[in-house]
Amino acid sequence: MTKIESIAIDGPVASGKSTVGAALALRLGYIYFDTGVMYRAVTLAALRHGIPGDNEKAVARLAAAIQIDVLAPTAADGRQYTVLLDGDDVTWAIRSAEVDAEVSVVSAYAAVRQIMTAEQRQIGLRGKVVMVGRDIGTVVMPDAKLKVFLQASAEERARRRYREQVERGQQICYEDLLAAIVRRDHIDSAREVAPLQSAADAWVIKTDGVGIQAVVDLIEEKYRTLLALENEKRL
Ligand code: C5P
Repeated sequence: MTKIESIAIDGPVASGKSTVGAALALRLGYIYFDTGVMYRAVTLAALRHGIPGDNEKAVARLAAAIQIDVLAPTAADGRQYTVLLDGDDVTWAIRSAEVDAEVSVVSAYAAVRQIMTAEQRQIGLRGKVVMVGRDIGTVVMPDAKLKVFLQASAEERARRRYREQVERGQQICYEDLLAAIVRRDHIDSAREVAPLQSAADAWVIKTDGVGIQAVVDLIEEKYRTLLALENEKRL
């Protein structure tokens, strides 16, 4: 099996995947790809077309028909990338509370996952990528050179999200945020297809009370060691 230069990072809501993944990709000069945006874009498309999240067939048809593009940031407003849905900039729209509430229902559909997974694998095959999500180490890139599963208590994750949203000037209730996180984790973990779980060969890192940069340092060190070992074997 060819080992491509790729890193899979999975974990529950607000476990630090995006911040860690983006920082790591920058350090290594790799592409950063956040697969959650694809499920969010499908969910937003369903909301915009007035398709109820529980209409599996209609959601799956829509997922096959829409065009999702993820580009380098096109505006300096704190975004990590720009997401286009049929050419429309939806980078912030996919982060709305409405999308948050529906996305786990939509992403549990096998037909939706099949389409998204196929596209994500294509990106993975190009190599030199840090891909983050829920099923990257288990399903999308099962032969990634390094698999990381980030964990933190629900309370710690809710505190992180709370701080982020307050910084963005949003008014939010901590208790509501915590309940939404627990609900989304539950649906993501309990679904039949590609549930949220760490791969058997993943490195589980608990991030409660650990700074993001320290986590990035740890992963970078391990990855460079793995690469060096592999290069030695080739010589
Ligand atoms: O990572 P993020 O919170 O943006 O992901 C939004 C939702 O998309 C998750 O709660 C999950 O339901 C779904 N998702 C998934 N598989 C992935 C990435 C995200 O099911 N690889």
